[in-house]
Amino acid sequence: MGAFDLDEGSLRLHFIPYPSPGHMIPLCDIARLFSSRGHHVTILTTPSNAHTLHKFISHRLRLHTVHFPSRQLGLPDGVENLAAVNNVEDSVKVHEAAMLLRGPMERFLERNPPDCIVADFFFPWVHDVATKLRIPRLVFNGFSLFAVCAMHSIYANPIESYSNSDPNVVRDLPHRITLKATPPKVLIDSTKPLLEMELKSHGIIVNNFAELDGEEYIQHYEKTTGHKAWHVGPVSLICRTAEEKTERGQESVVCAHKCLSWLNSKRANSVLYICFGSINQFSDKQLYEIACAVEASGCDFVWVVPEKKGKEDESEEEKAKWMPKGFEKRNMTKGIIIRGWAPQVLILGHLSVGAFLTHCGWNSTVEAVSAGVPMIMWPVHDEQFYNEKLISEVHGIGVEVGAEEWNVIGFVVKKKVVGRESIEKAVRKLMDGGDEAEKIRRRARELGKKARAAVEEGGSSHKNLTSLIDELKRLRDSSS
Ligand code: UDP
Repeated sequence: MGAFDLDEGSLRLHFIPYPSPGHMIPLCDIARLFSSRGHHVTILTTPSNAHTLHKFISHRLRLHTVHFPSRQLGLPDGVENLAAVNNVEDSVKVHEAAMLLRGPMERFLERNPPDCIVADFFFPWVHDVATKLRIPRLVFNGFSLFAVCAMHSIYANPIESYSNSDPNVVRDLPHRITLKATPPKVLIDSTKPLLEMELKSHGIIVNNFAELDGEEYIQHYEKTTGHKAWHVGPVSLICRTAEEKTERGQESVVCAHKCLSWLNSKRANSVLYICFGSINQFSDKQLYEIACAVEASGCDFVWVVPEKKGKEDESEEEKAKWMPKGFEKRNMTKGIIIRGWAPQVLILGHLSVGAFLTHCGWNSTVEAVSAGVPMIMWPVHDEQFYNEKLISEVHGIGVEVGAEEWNVIGFVVKKKVVGRESIEKAVRKLMDGGDEAEKIRRRARELGKKARAAVEEGGSSHKNLTSLIDELKRLRDSSS
C-alpha cells in the first residue's frame, strides 16, 4: 500500500472491522462515510474479507490486508468470517484467529500512524497502540446506545441482586424496561470488560440516529459513563442504487432484478419479509413451525433460510424435515424462499413489504426503521432482547413473538421451539390490517422519514459526523 496523496486538512483514519457481517458491514459503511467527506481511509482486513470490499476502493479508500491464520486454528483456507461457518466450534476458531491479527496489524499501525483509529470493540488491544502512538481511538460495538445503556445498567446491578418481584426490570433507565428473560451470565462476563475498555477511548460511533435512541438515552449514557457517543447512522442509507443495496456484505444468491420484479407484482404492504441475520441457526423443527405459521397467516412472503453449508442440493427427504409436504407447490406464487445471502436492504426498501419478522440484530432493526417497515420481534441472542424493547415498547413500531430463550451467540442450538400459533398471531397483528396495525405502520413510516432526514445535510447524524470530523482535526492539529 502506497502513501496517500493528502488533500490539505483531510484526515487519515484506519478502520479495523471485526470479521462478521453484523460488525463489518456497518463499520465499512462508516469508513465510506468518512471517505465521502474527503478524508483518507484505510480498512485493515484479511484477504477473503477484502474481496467483499473491493468495489469501494477509491483514491480515498484503501484496503490493507494481513494474513488470516485459518489453518493455525484448523479452519479451511479462506474461512475468515463468521458468515463462512455454521457451528459454535468453528465460530470460536474464527474469533480466536481474529484475535491473532494483533501482531501484523499493530506493526502496520506503528509504521503508518494515522490521525485516528476506529476499531471494533472486539479489538481492545487497539487501546495500547493508540496510547503509544498518542492518537485518538474511536470504538464501534455495533449496538444501539439504548442497548449499551441497558448493558451498563445490568453491570451496575448484578442479576443476583434482582428481587423475585421484578426479576427482569432493567434498572435506572429513563423508561421502565422489563425483559422476558435475564441475560446469560457468560454473555455479561464476556461483554463487560469490552464495554469497560471502550470507555477509555475518545468515544463510540453508533450506527443509529439520535431520534431513535432518544435524547434521554444519549444524556443518560453521557451522564452515567462520562463518555461520548457519536450517532452517525443509519449507515445503510449510504447505499443509494439498487446495485449498492444488493451487493452489501456478501454477494446475493438471488438476482436483484428478479427479486424486484416479483415484489413489483405484489400489493403495497402485502409481503412479509423473514430473515434472522447472518449467524443465526434454527433447527429443522423451528423452521417447520415458521413455515406452518406463514402459510396459515395467508400472506405473501420472502423467507431467507440460511443454506446448509456444503449441501448445495438438498434432497426431498432433507427438505421434508423443515418444510411441510407440498409447501413449495402451494406457495408457488405467494412466496420466495432465498437459500443463502439475500439483498436485505433492497427488499426492505420495497413498497410491497409490509412487515419484517426479525431476530432484532441491530443492523436489521435499524435497516427496517430506515425503510419505515414495522417489525415482528423475535430476539435470539446477544443484545437483541434490548433492541426488541426499544422497538416495541419505546417506539411502538413492532409486535413481539414472545421469545424467551436468550442465547449467547447465534450458532447455539436452541432448546425451546416457538410454536406456530405464537408466530401466526404476531404476524396477523401486523399483516391482517385493522386500526392497531395501521397505527403501528404509521409510526414506523414517520420514524423512517426521520431516519432518512438524519443523514441528509442539516440532519442530526450529518451534523454529528461534521462535528466528529472537526473534533478529530482539532486533536490532530493541537498535537502537531
Ligand atoms: N444481511 C443481508 N442478507 C442476509 C442476511 C443478512 O444483507 O441474507 C445483512 C443485514 O442487512 C445486516 C447484517 O447482514 O446488515 C446482519 O446484521 P444484524 O446486526 O442484523 O444481525 P447479525 O447477523 O449480526 O446477527
